[in-house]
Amino acid sequence: MTQQVKDILGHVAQGQTLERDDLIRLLDISEENEYEALFHAAYEVKKKNVGPVVYFRGLIEISNICQKDCLYCGIRKSNPKVPRFRLSIEEIVQAARWAHDNHYGSLVLQGGEIQNDNHSQYITDALNQLHEATNGELGVTLSLGEQSPQVLRQWRQAGAHRYLLRLETSRQDLYRQYHPEDHLWAPRLQCLDDLRNEGYQVGTGVMIGLPDQTNADLADDLLYIKELDVDMIGMGPFIPHGDTPLAHHLDTFNKDAQLQLGLKMLACARLLLPDANMAATTALQALSDTGRELGLQAGANIIMPNVTDPKHRRAYQLYDGKPSLDENSEQSRMGLEKRIAGIGEKIGYGLWGNSPRFKKRAPKA
Ligand code: SAH
Repeated sequence: MTQQVKDILGHVAQGQTLERDDLIRLLDISEENEYEALFHAAYEVKKKNVGPVVYFRGLIEISNICQKDCLYCGIRKSNPKVPRFRLSIEEIVQAARWAHDNHYGSLVLQGGEIQNDNHSQYITDALNQLHEATNGELGVTLSLGEQSPQVLRQWRQAGAHRYLLRLETSRQDLYRQYHPEDHLWAPRLQCLDDLRNEGYQVGTGVMIGLPDQTNADLADDLLYIKELDVDMIGMGPFIPHGDTPLAHHLDTFNKDAQLQLGLKMLACARLLLPDANMAATTALQALSDTGRELGLQAGANIIMPNVTDPKHRRAYQLYDGKPSLDENSEQSRMGLEKRIAGIGEKIGYGLWGNSPRFKKRAPKA
């Protein structure tokens, strides 16, 4: 291990904060023993601040209908190959009931971005009915794109508690490169502010390893996320999708390198925001069968097992190689339980698992 990496990790252990150059050096790591030292340091910080406990959030992919056209995304509006679907409220309630019966403390409702009254009302009805069916016991996270403060308030009042909205990248020219002209960065940032004002626990993150993105950009992303002072972090590696304008990147795509970069980012994020909740995302699992467990070992503490009926999963592919397309929720839970026990962690069944970061901010929540 180089003296430099040893010094950086030594400073972290003494409680010093990481500077931009330190982060770049850690993201540049390519030697086996340096990886191990980084993941070990992040795991120690995780144990101390959030414990070796994993919280499950049952993920329901409610709809792939989207009015946005992000160049990287498989369910973008201009992809004609995707059969579009929207779950019925009864299907959402059924998945919520399953999660509740299996002692998952929380749900995530994720879907394409739609801004109209019909959609807002559909989500409101789904929230009301799923809470009624589960005695209001589930924590609910939404991940439904940018919305107006009024709509966010309506959903908050119907029992949504948390919201994930990735800024995707803090480098504005890169944001422009991967989005059509009318998808603007500033309103997305404004929405994060609105979410906080409406009383949500707020999560954000970036895509890791976009073409033309450097490790210095990723270091800036991390520092930006820290400045936003979010409660939750959801970020994962970029994976090309064959039916998008970025399909040509499949030719040169290096799964292993992308996985390692994703894990290094998780570890650095844990070192920077010790008490935030951080997901080991499905995109990690798409790169390796054990991707999510590796994510936990690099500092993540949240997993979002898919509880959507498998018949709809194929139509919700943001990137190629989405895992568990045919596995039902029960099979996926049992497999995960075994592997999590295998790395010596516990599952926080029946608990909401709010981040200590949020609790410190809002002591009454
Ligand atoms: N429509 C909502 C949420 C659904 S998409 C929204 O815009 O917030 C959830 C996340 O998937 C996106 O924020 C993006 O970061 C990620 N994603 C989309 N396409 C991807 C790809 N090809 N590889 C990796 N992640 C991708």
